[in-house]
Amino acid sequence: MSEILGRVGYNGVAVEEPLDSATLAVVKAYLVYDQVARIRVRRVRDALGHLQAFGLGPIGELQVREVADEEWLETWKASFKPIRVGAFLVRPTWSDADPGEAIVLSLDPGMAFGTGLHPTTQACLRALSRIDVARMRVADVGTGSAILAIACAKRGAREVVAVDIDEVAAREAKENVARNGVGIDVGVGSASDLVGTFDVVLANIVAAVLQKIAPHLAAHLGRGGRLVVAGIIATEEDEIRAAFAGHGLRPVGREQEGDWVTLELTR
Ligand code: SAH
Repeated sequence: MSEILGRVGYNGVAVEEPLDSATLAVVKAYLVYDQVARIRVRRVRDALGHLQAFGLGPIGELQVREVADEEWLETWKASFKPIRVGAFLVRPTWSDADPGEAIVLSLDPGMAFGTGLHPTTQACLRALSRIDVARMRVADVGTGSAILAIACAKRGAREVVAVDIDEVAAREAKENVARNGVGIDVGVGSASDLVGTFDVVLANIVAAVLQKIAPHLAAHLGRGGRLVVAGIIATEEDEIRAAFAGHGLRPVGREQEGDWVTLELTR
């Protein structure tokens, strides 16, 4: 069904998986409403009919509906809910959700939101709620949307340096930094491009990369500093611990959420 709908859909299809096994999945495609839209719908209906003829049923009825522009925009926006994590409230720029005591991180859908925040990002935000970064010099390696760097700046860090090897990410990070009204030095690069030492170093990447850049992460961590590493799958934890132990770093904190492990290390 995805293949058939994907031929006509604008930007692919969406598959809504049910939470229980009794309900069927829903496959959706959005078509541009132009002169040939009706023809496309008819083709889809025919193709789905053929699918059933192969005995691949039941696939249900094809439902077609016209979606108004405003409705589309509202529905899209409504799917991005503000997320409260630790000391922070992560909300889209258009949201006016009351932050209460929380520190607002203003980010739009893109890298920061998928269907929420990635569990590793959440774990890092919780770590940043515990670690007092006020007046500290912080480095965020693999900054992505800059969510963690912005969190540090808003918690009163003296200086925040953010790097990402991906140019597109760095560009988006800069926009998010400006939107949040904070001062962060964003650049394209990795741990080896950092200059000087830092009180707090963050790296939410993946174990294989963490292992590779471990010497640089360790080298830029100042005396008594904290290194937060995330993106580690539980089965990779020992290897990562050993890699950092090789550079004189030992864990002083650990969090596991599902399969994801986050470590807080110091010298
Ligand atoms: N810090 C963000 C994003 C994490 S995604 C958060 O916590 O949500 C990981 C990011 O690391 C990606 O943007 C990717 O481009 C970047 N990355 C991958 N390998 C890297 C490397 N060797 N050095 C620096 N950044 C890297």
